Amino acid sequence: MDIAAERIERLHELARAAATEDDHDRARYYVRLARRVAERNRLALPRKFRRFTCDRCDAYLRPGRNARVRLQDGHVVITCDCGAHARYPYGNDDGNDEASEREDDTP
Ligand SMILES: [Zn+2]
Repeated sequence: MDIAAERIERLHELARAAATEDDHDRARYYVRLARRVAERNRLALPRKFRRFTCDRCDAYLRPGRNARVRLQDGHVVITCDCGAHARYPYGNDDGNDEASEREDDTP
């Protein structure tokens, strides 16, 4: 894992910790920093990061606290408190498919 990817991972942890303490301004700050690091290094943000952040307001989403989660037509729909919706296919949200992709690469 390179340094930029590690930084993004770390900022994700910090954002989650801040959101857990209901410090949403600080969580947003970390989310924005992580986005900037990714952009500058041309890295894709980890799936988990994209799922738990709002594209519109950069909030770190915590279902039941500042986000609502519904199931609809085989998709997970996450609604941020700011009103933005995000839709994801249901069932592959914890990186398992990434792990299996890696396994497929091994000879
Ligand atoms: Zn939002």
